[in-house]
Amino acid sequence: MTGTSNRPRVRDDLAMMEGYHSPQVTVPVRLNTNESPYPPPAAFAEQLAAAVATVEWHRYPDRAATELRTGIAKLHGVDPGQVFAANGSNEVLQTVLLAYAGAGRTVATFEPTYALHAHIARLTGATVAEGDRNDDFTLDLAEVERVIATADPSVVFLCSPNNPTGLVEPRDLVVAVAERCRAEGRLLVVDEAYGQFAPWSAQELLDAPGGDELPLVVTRTYSKTWSMAATRLGYAVAPRWIIEELEKVVLPYHLDVLKQLAGTLALDHLADMEARVAAIVEERGRIIAALAELPVDVWPSGANFVLFRPHSGDGHGTWQRLLNQGVLVRNCASWPRLDGCLRITIGTRDEDDAFLAALREALA
Ligand SMILES: *Cc1c(COP(=O)(O)O)cnc(C)c1O
Repeated sequence: MTGTSNRPRVRDDLAMMEGYHSPQVTVPVRLNTNESPYPPPAAFAEQLAAAVATVEWHRYPDRAATELRTGIAKLHGVDPGQVFAANGSNEVLQTVLLAYAGAGRTVATFEPTYALHAHIARLTGATVAEGDRNDDFTLDLAEVERVIATADPSVVFLCSPNNPTGLVEPRDLVVAVAERCRAEGRLLVVDEAYGQFAPWSAQELLDAPGGDELPLVVTRTYSKTWSMAATRLGYAVAPRWIIEELEKVVLPYHLDVLKQLAGTLALDHLADMEARVAAIVEERGRIIAALAELPVDVWPSGANFVLFRPHSGDGHGTWQRLLNQGVLVRNCASWPRLDGCLRITIGTRDEDDAFLAALREALA
């Protein structure tokens, strides 16, 4: 046999899929992936180096990641049995979807939102039912109810603040969706990758009376607010009976010892993290105010990024002209429902000034 005709074929449902793309371009000002512009404090790196020196490399890591989960649980005022940690919140989402979605089941998303919710759902073999946001990117409860009634999803995704729009879901909406999911035996996942930038957290619902029976998973990550994208660490807070199911699905020893140490030691620097978040929120206000003076539409943001659209409609050209000046932003211009839009991650004051100067030039 010659040629490629005899190569094993991937699953039929994967054959037409494309991978997740986020270009990594080396330019002076990178404001495209919502990383923190600041590293964690020097003391953290020193503590971590000292801890690494004592690692028993011939042993498997603590499979239950006890210290890490205890630290995270303390941070959120919950029990360690309500915390599930994994390699980035993406692996948390994958584990949730392996447990509660998969072949023969449906997952609901409300577009535009974080592309990986639908992507990972499809990788598990699930069908995705896409609901629509309004033109201003707000989400109506009626639309959520319509999708639930017509698609019968096992898992419903919300993202608050929503990536890439920046909008925070109102508490009333999340409460109503959670109640509906409880009544009908569906799982609600609220992705709070940007939770610390937002005025409220769905974790409040888990803390409220009856919260331990709410089918609600709230996901967080170290990648953004904790300035630790390099580590690949995220977690979920949920009722214990959900965490137990996730533990059945995830691979044994999936969290290596370095990651467990890094995640635990980072929590000693909570005040630094909160100061970085406060600085970014202030910068966000400055950027939104500056964008409001330019010929672009700009959306309110409860996250560390801002979505905007040049009035010219030329998102691609604007993106390229920014790149030509050494400023990389996220090009959402050809994403469904985001025609012409660009997303800028809040950087340092200097990076943001460079972006604003480049944008004025790009729009001129
Ligand atoms: C960045 C981001 C994540 C982060 O994923 P990690 O795997 O933890 O880096 C998750 N959800 C949303 C909405 C994000 O924007």
